[in-house]
Amino acid sequence: MLEYKIENGKVLLGEQAIPVAWKGDVLVAGGGPGGLGAAFLAHRNGLNVLLIEELGFLGGMASYGCGMPLGGAYPAYRTNGGFAEEIMDAVRNAGKDAADVRVMGQFSYWFFHDSEYFKSFIAKKVVDEKLPVRLHTTFCDVLMDGPNRVVGVVVESKSGRQALLAKTFIDATGDADLCARAGAQFEKGADADGAMMATTVVFSLANVDTDKAFKYKETDPRFEKALAQAEKDGLFVHPHDKLGNFVTVLRKGTIFCNSVRVRDIDGTSVEDLTRAELESRVRILQQLEFMRRYIPGCEDCYLGSTGDRLGVRETRRIIGEDRLTVKDVEENRKRPDVGVIRSAGPYDNASRGKDPSYHELNKIDEYDWYHMPYGSFIPKGLDNVAIAGRTFCCDYLALTGARGIALMMCIGEATGTAAAYAINRGVPFRDVDVAWLQNKLRQQGCNIDN
Ligand SMILES: Cc1cc2nc3c(=O)[nH]c(=O)nc-3n(C[C@H](O)[C@H](O)[C@H](O)COP(=O)(O)OP(=O)(O)OC[C@H]3O[C@@H](n4cnc5c(N)ncnc54)[C@H](O)[C@@H]3O)c2cc1C
Repeated sequence: MLEYKIENGKVLLGEQAIPVAWKGDVLVAGGGPGGLGAAFLAHRNGLNVLLIEELGFLGGMASYGCGMPLGGAYPAYRTNGGFAEEIMDAVRNAGKDAADVRVMGQFSYWFFHDSEYFKSFIAKKVVDEKLPVRLHTTFCDVLMDGPNRVVGVVVESKSGRQALLAKTFIDATGDADLCARAGAQFEKGADADGAMMATTVVFSLANVDTDKAFKYKETDPRFEKALAQAEKDGLFVHPHDKLGNFVTVLRKGTIFCNSVRVRDIDGTSVEDLTRAELESRVRILQQLEFMRRYIPGCEDCYLGSTGDRLGVRETRRIIGEDRLTVKDVEENRKRPDVGVIRSAGPYDNASRGKDPSYHELNKIDEYDWYHMPYGSFIPKGLDNVAIAGRTFCCDYLALTGARGIALMMCIGEATGTAAAYAINRGVPFRDVDVAWLQNKLRQQGCNIDN
């Protein structure tokens, strides 16, 4: 029981004693694609690592994406190698559960995989490699010994409030929660108004006659005719949703639907998250009814799966030591002195803010690519914190084309490896020798050069 006082709308806690449950080299917060890359690589580089994840499974969107394809591993149709390729290779060769690898226009290869299989696949990998992990553990706060240095995190779980102490920290929460708590600066959304991309609970529909459904889609690609009929019949479908946005996935008779678009949401506000979760699930019911009534082949469909949680495309972007700019992306800028990852892809500016239009993708040279600089993963002002995942420092539009799941694994590999240098030499992340890191990544099989 906590001793407390309530004053001026604030609860003041008396002296608190939080047990230290772990102490080591690297604490990775968040077990999505970025966190997995960071934790595995720090572990393989001999560091004492702990990966914490608030859900009961690892993989982030790769696991709760209902078959969402794994993108970003093959900029300009050439592999980025390393940990991401190791995962892509395993997923591609998983026998009956193997991914269907498709060329997705300007996005290069996407791995349409089975998210349910991925949950177990990644659990087995963790067990096989003895990667220390704590599930059902939510990062809540940081402990600092000055404005620039984090010494520990406070977590909450069924075991209560605990402290985990480390020499370095990798923030892979997808929202830069740890950086924000530690006082790092960040940006959110578009420059003009802070508007962020729409949010989506993805889902799949099972028991679909897919031949019939796709034949119909050829005649009515955005379902405008079907929607007009639904409107006449008085069936409401939310006008922001992107109804025709479905593809076949691995499971027979199943389609993956990335069609809900709940706009004007800030994924770092619990009120907004609640509204978007509830609104998304209501819209899934609307769409289910619509598909059954108006899309041939879907008459007997049912919900195959729904995302375990809302998919949030973007929130905070750290202010880093370096930055990926729109110009870098548009000019496919190579930065051999500081570049540690290759990336490519069109802008994917999915329904930003209140703007009702869907922004079409820009045209890129599919066979060219740009470098992501190491410094964009290092928050300014913090000595021993790096990020892994979609919160890296960049222009808002640059993020839209550089947030594929496999690419986030590459960021994790880069910062998880950099942690070895920082710890072994006792230097801040910003002082890691990039030439050393590049060579180390090459030794680990990463393709950062061509
Ligand atoms: C609707 C939607 C569609 C997309 N489509 C595609 C696509 O087709 N292909 C593609 O490649 N990419 C796609 N993306 C992008 C991709 O999914 C993300 O950019 C990527 O998953 C980001 O990886 P991450 O590791 O940064 O974050 P996440 O995948 O979000 O992982 C973060 C992890 O941290 C955990 N976490 C968060 N906060 C805490 C905390 N406080 N304590 C402990 N754990 C915490 C979360 O539970 C989660 O497991 C899509 C994204 C969305 C939302």
